[in-house]
Formats: sequence, C-alpha cells, structure tokens
Amino acid sequence: MTQGRPLLNRRLAEFGTTIFAEMSALAVRTGAINLGQGFPDTDGPEEVREAAVRALRAGHGNQYPPGPGVPELRTAITAHQQRRYALTYDPDTEVLVTAGATEAIAATLLALLEPGDEVVALEPYYDSYAACIAMAGATRVPVTLHPEPSSGSYRLDLDELRAAVTPRTRLLLLNTPHNPTGTVLTREELGAIAELACERDLLVVTDEVYEHLVFEGEHLPLAGFPGMRERTVTISSAGKTFSFTGWKVGWVTAPRELVSAVRSAKQFLTYVASGPFQYAVAEALRLPDSYFDEFRADMRAKRDLLADGLERAGFRVFRPAGTYFVTTDIRPLGESDGFAFCRALPERCGVVAIPNAVFYDHREQGAPFVRFAFCKRTGVLEEAVSRLKTLAA
Ligand code: PMP
Ligand code: GLN
Repeated sequence: MTQGRPLLNRRLAEFGTTIFAEMSALAVRTGAINLGQGFPDTDGPEEVREAAVRALRAGHGNQYPPGPGVPELRTAITAHQQRRYALTYDPDTEVLVTAGATEAIAATLLALLEPGDEVVALEPYYDSYAACIAMAGATRVPVTLHPEPSSGSYRLDLDELRAAVTPRTRLLLLNTPHNPTGTVLTREELGAIAELACERDLLVVTDEVYEHLVFEGEHLPLAGFPGMRERTVTISSAGKTFSFTGWKVGWVTAPRELVSAVRSAKQFLTYVASGPFQYAVAEALRLPDSYFDEFRADMRAKRDLLADGLERAGFRVFRPAGTYFVTTDIRPLGESDGFAFCRALPERCGVVAIPNAVFYDHREQGAPFVRFAFCKRTGVLEEAVSRLKTLAA
C-alpha cells in the first residue's frame, strides 16, 4: 500500500497467485506426487533436444531472433498446418512465433479488444484467459460447459452460446481440446459456432494447444470451417505436443491483418523469446506422423490407467476425449468442496490435484470437481492410483 492505495491495480486484484504455482509449491513442500500442474515428467524426443543443443552451439538464435520468429520455424508451422489440416498460411505474413501459447493469448487479446468489449469464453476456462481479458479492460461472458454423467463428458449448449452474444461481443474465445474438461468439440458444434461467428461478424480466437492429444474423434481446426479463416486467430504451442513446456515456444496463425495486429502488441511484451529453441521446434514439427501417433497412443494408455484407477478409488470420472487432464467428481467420496479436498490431499494420501472451481466465474458450478494430470511416467501414475485408493478406506 502506498498513498493509501493497493499496489496491484484493480484489473488484476482478483487474480492472486495462479493455482498451478500454489499447487506445485504444495507438492514440493509435502513431497507429494504432482498431478496438478500440466507438465510431463519426462522430456520430449532426444533428436529435438539435440537440435536445440546444435542450434546453441552453432550460434543460431543466441542473439535476438527476428520479431515474427525465425524463418525456419515459420515455414515449419505453415508446412504443419498444410500437412495436417490442408490449411494454407503464408510464412512471412500469416504466422507469429510467441513466448508459448500464454503470450499468444495475451498479445491477441490485448491487440484485438477495446475496453468495454465483451468476450464470450467457454467456462471452465484456462486461467490466463480471464486475466488477459481483464488486462485488456474487456468483460468476460462465460458460457458454461455442463457435466453430463450419462455420457461421461462435458457438453456445450449451443443455445446458451447464441444467447451469450450481444451487440457488444467482439470475439469468441474457444479452446478445443478443452482444458480442464477434456472435451473435444465435434464437427457439428464447430459448424454451429462458425455459423454464429459469421452471422454476428465476430472474431474468433481458438486455443488448440492440445491439437495432437485427441483420443476420440479427431481434431478439427475451427479455421477450416466455411467463412472462418478470415476471422480466426489459431493458437498452438510446442510445449504440449513435444513435451518441452519450459522452452516456451508458441505461435499464432491467422490472416495478415490479424497477425499484424497481434504482432503490434507482442513486440512490446517480449519482443522475441526462445531463440535456439525455435530452431529445434522447427525440426520437431517436421517429425514423421509416427511420432505424433506414438505420442497420442502413449498418452491414451496413461489416460486409461489414471481414469480406471480413479474410478476404482471411488471418483466419478469424466474420461477425456482429449488433453492430458482428467476431471473427476468427488461427491461419491462424500466430499463437495474441491478446494478443501485438494489442499488436504497431499496430507491424506500424498497426491496433488487442481480444484476446477478456479477455472469458473460461477465457482459453485465447479465446486465438486477436481482435475488430475496424466502426463507422467507409468510408475508414477500407478503409485498415485494406489495412494488414491486409500481415500475410500
Ligand atoms: N492454453 C491452454 C489451454 C493450456 O492448457 C496451456 C498450458 N499449458 C496454455 C495455453 C499455455 O501454453 P504455453 O505453456 O505454451 O504458454
Ligand atoms: N497449462 C498448464 C495446466 O493447465 C499449466 C501452465 C502454467 O502453469 N501456467 O496445468
């Protein structure tokens, strides 16, 4: 406090410390197994790590790389979009490399929003969305995904989405595959979202960082739907796909005018980041399909291991169609407060998880749900499951 005023400005006052930092610190303090923050406990492919070492030694990227990203990476990103999704982008004008998807989200929202604009976002939402909307002075309008115990998944109500759009809505902020629920939006849902965006002339920002972690169905980029390419900013990241979350290499693909706007904000955030890692990620994106197939199959087996274990431990499980998170309902264990449950869990059984309520404006809607990450070694997941089974005893 100085001059009788809090130090943190009022736009950020509600956000405090991120739940990921809080829960990872709790894991370190208690020695518990950390199934909270979503990071793998083994590094990605050795050849990609070696590519980073080679880049460092060769002096590639040790000084400021170009603002939009190194040409090798921008070309690899456009080649990936073409090869996987038949989407064509110009590497010189329609791609922007960022410091992880986190900076891509921040720069995009800071660039595209005016104070007073409304942003419709799917709730529960990844925590940086709310903070970045607030930093831009805009207003978030959550559309809540509903848990459906019958289908074992969370679903979007398209009528609720349509009703959330007002004359003040500037953009839709989507995330598929969705963190934390594991929902993958279907072709029909994405088609309806695309129609709505065109009809109401909205921009769309779509966070697709889990694009290579779809276990049921397939990942369909929203930019590929009719009328969407020109109004969509697509965000992705090497952290999830190649298991190097510390490298912080993310990117945006969008038409020239949108990329240009996002670059205007991005140049004053980090300007550039992750020089040598950009070269390594360029090589990673060119890995053969077998890498992506094996990565997904491996993560799918881990999903099943943890989801089955949680079920046996007494949780109601929403088996994710995508991402590396599984959301559970703790009420069958006689619990109803996810925060209290997660804070006590290390003490009770040596495991850390994330209370989904932090991803909600309507906190009560998320109260009894808890998220576990399964991007961990099989032995670690097995040990976690055997510890969690003691809860019911
Ligand atoms: N979006 C979503 C949905 C995420 O789960 C995450 C966190 N991993 C990010 C963005 C941030 O990605 P990055 O680590 O590349 O900044
Ligand atoms: N995206 C990761 C998660 O959802 C966390 C990233 C972070 O700590 N900012 O767990």
